[in-house]
Amino acid sequence: METPRQPALQSIAESLLESCLAMLDASQSSIKNVLDHMLADLPIASEKQGFQRKQLAQWLYKKGAQSFDEMTNLPKAWREQLLTDYRINPFEGVKRFVSEDKSVRYLFQLADGKQTEAVYMPYKDRKTVCLSSMVGCPAGCAFCATGALGFGRNLSQAEILGQILAISWHEGFPPTDIRNVVLMGMGEALLNYKNALSSIRTMIDEAALDMSPRRITLSTVGLPKQMRKLADEGLSLVLALSLHAPDEETRKQIIPTAHAYPMDEIMDALSYWQEKVARRVSIEYTMLSGINDNLWQADLLIKRLKGLLIHVNLIPFNSWDNSGFSSSSRETIAQFEKRLAAKGIPVSVRFSRGQDTGAACGQLALTQR
Ligand code: SF4
Repeated sequence: METPRQPALQSIAESLLESCLAMLDASQSSIKNVLDHMLADLPIASEKQGFQRKQLAQWLYKKGAQSFDEMTNLPKAWREQLLTDYRINPFEGVKRFVSEDKSVRYLFQLADGKQTEAVYMPYKDRKTVCLSSMVGCPAGCAFCATGALGFGRNLSQAEILGQILAISWHEGFPPTDIRNVVLMGMGEALLNYKNALSSIRTMIDEAALDMSPRRITLSTVGLPKQMRKLADEGLSLVLALSLHAPDEETRKQIIPTAHAYPMDEIMDALSYWQEKVARRVSIEYTMLSGINDNLWQADLLIKRLKGLLIHVNLIPFNSWDNSGFSSSSRETIAQFEKRLAAKGIPVSVRFSRGQDTGAACGQLALTQR
């Protein structure tokens, strides 16, 4: 069955071309930001004072300094130099949209006039942030509001890490209070591989945010080559594979990249990941009424996942204007869940937070409400 928003291969190629041009634009207009530096490469007054790198990192990532003026243990002349050469905040403006469930959608204005988003989710025992790796997304999944925006550009390392810092500044706690990160906001992180990875390396650096890689989740729509490359990085991250359908035909209807990457290749890459990383993988499955919620699809999903160390998250579809989709009913989701569980597949239903402010899974669309 064709969905109204299924992009043709040609339009995917066009969007990739646009992506290249947009990346060129972004790199030409980028502003020097201290967060773009890896820790070993942070600017210091002189190589003799290498310890200043640690001091600078402490101010930025542990204390959440918003200005070089606050860094009182750095020499005044050096602070003034930093002030002239660098900025810390990569955003021109920030808007907050607070949901009834206390999660907060952040809309960031970037230096080139584009925008991106992140979501802060406070829980009793932890603070979690959902970060974006791009402006919009080139993957164009038919059920995702971000995909409908098309691709703006990749975010820089400063713009990815800056989301964590800006959230901590606005919420009023140090950045190191954030212990859980999910790269599941706008964009396919594995298509912004270099910046996503360097940001993750800074998050887990003990001199910076000192996060456990086990609490960092990276979601992908299923790009086998990049999945293997990431597996070779030696990081114990959590991989979330957005599968959304067990059969090629349905997958192609809702995920354009499925035309390029058959399911068998993705499942091979998943096995490779498990060999290398030896960690449970989250399988994300958005429940779309009449599209991917039939019991035969549950049975096929069971076959596909047999023998793998996985956990399936069934996500009721979060609606957005003119999406052309609706969520499976509670009863259908319960039946689907029961079918998987009966065959020993670990499964749960994951209700998204922030639906009233457009912050839920698949809803990020730069809305101003
Ligand atoms: S679901 Fe993820 S990969 Fe697909 S369009 Fe949305 S942001 Fe991109």
